[in-house]
Amino acid sequence: MKTTKIETVEVRIPYTAGGSAAETGAWGGKEWSTADALLVKVSTDQGITGWGEVFGYNVIPATRVIVDEIVAPMCIGADPGEIESLMTDLQHKLHIFGRGGPIIYALSGLDMALWDIAGKKAGQPLHHLLGGKRCDELDAYASLIRYTDPDVVAANVARARDLGFRHIKLHEITVPAVAAAREAAGPDVSIMLDVNCPWTLDEAVAMSKQLRPYNPAWLEEPVWPPEDHASLAIIRKRTGIPVAAGENAATIEQFRTLMAAEAIDIVQPSPAKMGGVSELRKVFALAKEFDVRVVQHSFYEGPGLLTAMQTSAALSLDPLVEWRFFDCEARLYGSNVVPVDGKLRLPEGQGLGCDPDPGVIERYRSA
Ligand SMILES: [Mg+2]
Repeated sequence: MKTTKIETVEVRIPYTAGGSAAETGAWGGKEWSTADALLVKVSTDQGITGWGEVFGYNVIPATRVIVDEIVAPMCIGADPGEIESLMTDLQHKLHIFGRGGPIIYALSGLDMALWDIAGKKAGQPLHHLLGGKRCDELDAYASLIRYTDPDVVAANVARARDLGFRHIKLHEITVPAVAAAREAAGPDVSIMLDVNCPWTLDEAVAMSKQLRPYNPAWLEEPVWPPEDHASLAIIRKRTGIPVAAGENAATIEQFRTLMAAEAIDIVQPSPAKMGGVSELRKVFALAKEFDVRVVQHSFYEGPGLLTAMQTSAALSLDPLVEWRFFDCEARLYGSNVVPVDGKLRLPEGQGLGCDPDPGVIERYRSA
């Protein structure tokens, strides 16, 4: 089999997230009114097509150029089944342009698409190629945006709880917002806290002490910069709150550094950012050695989410999948991949499990 064509497809789907436009906020310095995704479509001479997803959001213009103008020309004619050697070769040839960021994002989307093709060629879902699934459905956690206003936080936590989510993640950074969330959730719902790198070590330790009464299941990326592994290790030991990080790490080497520093209890590889299925397999194996739990970052709804689901079902003993708590005008997989009572059913189609809906792509495709 030969790779004949690699295309990027950008979709922009309007969404709401239970808050005003101001509250849905500016992430990465840009207001979001649409959920933007960059898909990679890989075609072969045997008529099999694979889909991947490249991170995403504000950085799409950069990742798109890298896929279209750098990565795609290097892969045309290659055997899409020789995934490990192709991905290693690409990492090696491109390493001077970046060992993370858009270069690795681009490779991540390609890798997913190649595994999608491998599954379709074998006539099996991806989990089967990874040793088989351990479950038919996966616990999902509702990943809420930052609302700031405690009343709005409480309303959205109640909304997620009423939809059946038993695990809810906040992106709040104040004690009143977290207190409101705990009160709305009740004592039995697990609440995780992702603060996106706001604090110094001293500030993080002080805040952890104030947040501990609300029983956070984990504290995610508490310090700036995210590579400050030594501070993460101190926070774990001093506060007793489990620390989570890893969505900003790429390739197995950076995950090894993170785990070897004893910086984390939960590692959060992001399929569309860190290298795709090939690197994820290695992270799962390494996490087992370090006794670290893997809960992937999957703040997307395309092939990146399906990859998180397929790999978690096969490789995790206690799978938990991040579900972006957006009310989207349309969904790439329609109702096939939507949580019911806080659980995501594993799609059983070949490869990643299902293909994006062509009608949705046609309607929301960005030029
Ligand atoms: Mg995060």
